[in-house]
Amino acid sequence: MVLNELGARINSALQTLSRESVIDEKAVDALLREICGALLESDVNVRLVQQLRLNVKALVNKDELAASANKRKVIQNALFDELCRLVDPGVQPWVPRKGKQSVVMFVGLQGSGKTTSCTKLAAYYKRKGMKVGMVCADTFRAGAFDQLKQNASRAHIPYYGSYNEADPVQIAMEGVAKFKKDKFDLIIVDTSGRHKQEAELFAEMEQIAAAIKPDNTVFVMDGTIGQAADSQARAFKESVDIGSIIITKMDGHAKGGGAISAVAATGSPIIFIGTGEHMHDLDRFSARPFVSKMLGMGDLTGLVETVQDMQLDKNEDMMKNIAKGVFTLKDMRDQLQSIMKMGPLSKLMGMMPGMSPEMMQGIDADESTRRLRSYMCIFDSMTESELGSDGKVFEDEARLRRVARGSGVRPVDIQAMLHQHKQFGQIVKRMGGPKGMLSKMNPAM
Ligand code: GDP
Repeated sequence: MVLNELGARINSALQTLSRESVIDEKAVDALLREICGALLESDVNVRLVQQLRLNVKALVNKDELAASANKRKVIQNALFDELCRLVDPGVQPWVPRKGKQSVVMFVGLQGSGKTTSCTKLAAYYKRKGMKVGMVCADTFRAGAFDQLKQNASRAHIPYYGSYNEADPVQIAMEGVAKFKKDKFDLIIVDTSGRHKQEAELFAEMEQIAAAIKPDNTVFVMDGTIGQAADSQARAFKESVDIGSIIITKMDGHAKGGGAISAVAATGSPIIFIGTGEHMHDLDRFSARPFVSKMLGMGDLTGLVETVQDMQLDKNEDMMKNIAKGVFTLKDMRDQLQSIMKMGPLSKLMGMMPGMSPEMMQGIDADESTRRLRSYMCIFDSMTESELGSDGKVFEDEARLRRVARGSGVRPVDIQAMLHQHKQFGQIVKRMGGPKGMLSKMNPAM
């Protein structure tokens, strides 16, 4: 069962309870049966579900509840607390600080989304103003360095790796030393993943950890692995000192209950969840807002942070351009990037209180998100001078074809984007310039 459905099932069970005229043991048992069944269908570990049932029952049986005027509220609160406990080990997560050099090591099985998450985390802290570097200490998988290089370049993150050196410990040490010397705030070291629980993999992880002494070790787990999450998390915990967890592939339709509750096996907090393949598809995780959101109560913390991250004030150049009535391709890219930083429309709506999971159904922002992403690939394939232009340079077909090849789209897709840019440009022209609306509203501009 996907998490939105789980939220809806829990809500509906609570509503049934509110309709009961008497809240007796039978009513509480029925509520717990429904909720525990839903949790099990979402792959939450059976021991944890059993514990949740016992904890809520123990509370309900207490004398004070019998005397309490509002039994429903007490039960609801107890349930909310128990759901939070499923995903919260009660440990404050480690966070890097600007100006204090720290090293973070990533571990996890191959294909779990480790390299992608390294880049997402690097980009996240770069947006917060930190100097972040990435090190590829995966010499096992052919192409691992190329993948990290490609991801890091796309996110404009400095990286370190080697095509010749076969010893991952050596590379990790060199990379960390280099970035430390260059006064980087956060150094992220990606390690090799390989296959399930290979002894060699764990030995290598231990050696790298001993050599670079990470301030934090992030365990990356695939959110779609269901019940297997518990044993996988335990295996990693036995070898390395897991400091935090990132759960990936928690996109809209993922089940995720297994992985999310596997946090109990490690005793370490989930710090982020990956919600897609794109660099910005990373959501900060904290238990109470997560459970609130799942139950359709909104996630105001997430919303506030998303808006802060947009950093609109950094667009001074664009404001100057607009005042002059100029709108370059780069201006368009920056605008669209700001929108993309906020994440898909459906995600933003999900953070708003009052938007229940049922109300979210039918909203499909995927198409527009896909189009924005393809625009970003187009912009990435342009040169600086092309980006700084008004797009007319692409009347040259050879140039158009080059960018199409580089970005993996058809020339006609680029023309459609240029057409949109032109339309934006016309609006900007009307607003800006000495006779424009902006200067009438504010002569100083
Ligand atoms: P690694 O082998 O652990 O380094 O895994 P990669 O970073 O190469 O990721 C494996 C695959 O999972 C790639 O195709 C990624 O694009 C994809 N992936 C990673 N994180 C996410 C996520 O949060 N959502 C989705 N849908 N895909 C993801």
